[in-house]
Amino acid sequence: MSRYIATRAIRGANALVTEAEIMLNKALSEKGPETPVSFPNTAYYLPTILGMTGKAVEKLGQLQEVLAHARSLLHPLPAENHWTPYLGETLDSGMATLLAAETIEAIRFVYGLQPEPFPGFHLAGGTSYGNEDGSDHLNGPIDDIQLRSWGIQLVDGRMPGFAAIVGCAKSNEVAVKIVRELQRRNILCFLSGNVNGRSIIHQLQEEGVELGYDTYTVPFGTDTISAIYALGFATRSALTFGGLKPGQAREILLYNKERVFAFVLALGEVDDLKYAAAAGAINYGFPVIADTVIPEILPTGITTYEHVVSMPFDQIEGKDDLERAERLVQKCIEVRGVKVKVSNVDVPVPYGSAFEGEVVRKADLRVEFGGKHARCFEYLHMAKLDEVTDGKIEVVGPDFSSIPPQGAMDMGIIVKVAGRQMQQDFEPVLERQIHYFINGASGIQHVGQRDIAWIRISNNAAEKGFDLSHFGKILHARFHEDFGAIVDKVEVMIVTDPALHAEWLEKARAAYDYRNKRLADLTDDKVDEFYSCTLCQSFAPNHVCVVSPERLGLCGAYNWLDCKASYNINPTGPNQPIKLGKVIDPKKGYWEGTNDYAKIGSHGVVQEVSMYSIMENPMTACGCFECIVMLIPEANGVMVVSREDTSMTPAGMTFSTLAGIAGGGLQTPGVMGVGKFYLISPKFISADGGFKRVVWMSSVLKETMAEEFKAVCEREGDPDLMEKIADERNVTTVEELLAWLEAHNHPALAMEPMF
Ligand code: SF4
Ligand code: ZN
Repeated sequence: MSRYIATRAIRGANALVTEAEIMLNKALSEKGPETPVSFPNTAYYLPTILGMTGKAVEKLGQLQEVLAHARSLLHPLPAENHWTPYLGETLDSGMATLLAAETIEAIRFVYGLQPEPFPGFHLAGGTSYGNEDGSDHLNGPIDDIQLRSWGIQLVDGRMPGFAAIVGCAKSNEVAVKIVRELQRRNILCFLSGNVNGRSIIHQLQEEGVELGYDTYTVPFGTDTISAIYALGFATRSALTFGGLKPGQAREILLYNKERVFAFVLALGEVDDLKYAAAAGAINYGFPVIADTVIPEILPTGITTYEHVVSMPFDQIEGKDDLERAERLVQKCIEVRGVKVKVSNVDVPVPYGSAFEGEVVRKADLRVEFGGKHARCFEYLHMAKLDEVTDGKIEVVGPDFSSIPPQGAMDMGIIVKVAGRQMQQDFEPVLERQIHYFINGASGIQHVGQRDIAWIRISNNAAEKGFDLSHFGKILHARFHEDFGAIVDKVEVMIVTDPALHAEWLEKARAAYDYRNKRLADLTDDKVDEFYSCTLCQSFAPNHVCVVSPERLGLCGAYNWLDCKASYNINPTGPNQPIKLGKVIDPKKGYWEGTNDYAKIGSHGVVQEVSMYSIMENPMTACGCFECIVMLIPEANGVMVVSREDTSMTPAGMTFSTLAGIAGGGLQTPGVMGVGKFYLISPKFISADGGFKRVVWMSSVLKETMAEEFKAVCEREGDPDLMEKIADERNVTTVEELLAWLEAHNHPALAMEPMF
């Protein structure tokens, strides 16, 4: 064990704890101990402190205890001839540093210094706090909403892990390359710190790299202390998805070591504070890779592989700095053992899921297909094996060279697939992937599906040579890569020729109609098996989604057909058929098969699961739910809160607080996390009275699903029901809710008691 590292980490920790104490004393005398402290939009208080000490800090005064604990973890500097064979003292210093850093950030929030002001900056995707459009400030901590929406990608492996990048790269060019290499692998980048006042955040901003939730690059702050948010994120993933409780420090650290593939990349000179913060990260099993000369800690123990690796940038082999940057990223991935999958798609622009959220703005637009001025559709259908020529990509009709800048044209994308395992039911499942596949290309934006698809190509992508045939190349490569088990041959035709466009549009529409009817006919009583989904078990070890034709997974991403296709692709994967067997109670939705599976799948935590009731043995939730449904006893009904709604609900809690109650894989009668399309299913809490029980609903749901809800109200025999359901614009307390329901004569008031 390096005495040098121990010395510097201990020194850094001592200094930071002292700084935090001074700041806290000042804040206590200026603001008083009762002053509230919190990070925005999180149910986890100050998350690292909560996780590590079990203390739910809500007031400035409580931070004194936290710092006293941090101080108790400090050690004297090792003597000149002192040899420590263990990491213990360094790790303690690291923990003390994290507690002090989070304390400092919390105090900064009290003074309005967080999120860090950064004039002229704009966050891609905005935030739900600060200037909400995301302008003129950095991101600060990641909120619970974003944590959960990344959750699904973290569990299904689309997002292999995160990189906490601290400092400043050798040059702007290197900074961009490092981030691009990470984005290409869908690794989240958390950015913080500086070297002599210059941060990688400045470098990326100067190079016009879009930073924010949408592009998987989150700028926390320009000092080292803000790197604490990365560990707050890690702590919360253990609490949110791992079902761990505040104060289970050891378990939380182990969870991260085993399941969260993260590492720290220290760019530029490493000072005492950075050593101390790095020691904090090592507690979580996250190794530190530095691009400068520092002593290494290679023997493994806490981390899976090496603890600290030095890879001096100028000594990396490579023909130029760009190649060196690439090697550096490679090394990080090796050291942490991150499992990455890179798609090999032959297009002239960067390609990877990190580009999925990219927006092509009007000013950057070369040409668009669909939207207001043109029609774009996409249609995937199966054919016999001998009717498909694998790899054939045809463009029929003119390309976009004659379209003026920012112009629009009609296009159709027709994908023909064949495979021994292919079934007609999988057509819509595969077709929906076109959205993700095409969006993966940098500079291309895809919105919508079917005959309302809308695709934009940016000037930049067009200049690099992206043309219509590349849509075909992307689809051919990705369908083979992701669906190789059911698809043997893929052929793509891109149609711009007007006559052929019209002809295929008609064929496509006939197929969409057919599928709609098939879906409407596909009810729970028409099938012999449901499907399990255990994808989220890598985060929530005992949670199982039971997916039926009329109840999709709570994340909204997997319906019964998706699960069926996934089972065919990977028969030993996360989606297994559940043979229903004997019906026990058709009203509440109990079968022998589902109960048996619930026991096995939850490792004995859940004994029975009701498919159609929120009151009796409701389905558990991991954390990915699109909405929360919760009983409001006084109203004899339920409220439905959307993930996008940050306002107060009549239950006296916001979505993020409620999410803490609903998640974690526990069965809580009266609370359920659901996918939003379950709300319009005839089986939506049908055992408890169905949709008529909804007394309050976030307005964003009402607006985005207006047509669907209208149909549901008619189906339920109460066409005006939507107008009787309150939302956050008119009702935020139970008293107001009851008055609203009386005034609007809501049917729930006259229904039998819910319990
Ligand atoms: Fe997770 Fe359920 Fe979605 Fe599967 S269906 S990914 S278990 S939330
Ligand atoms: Zn989940």
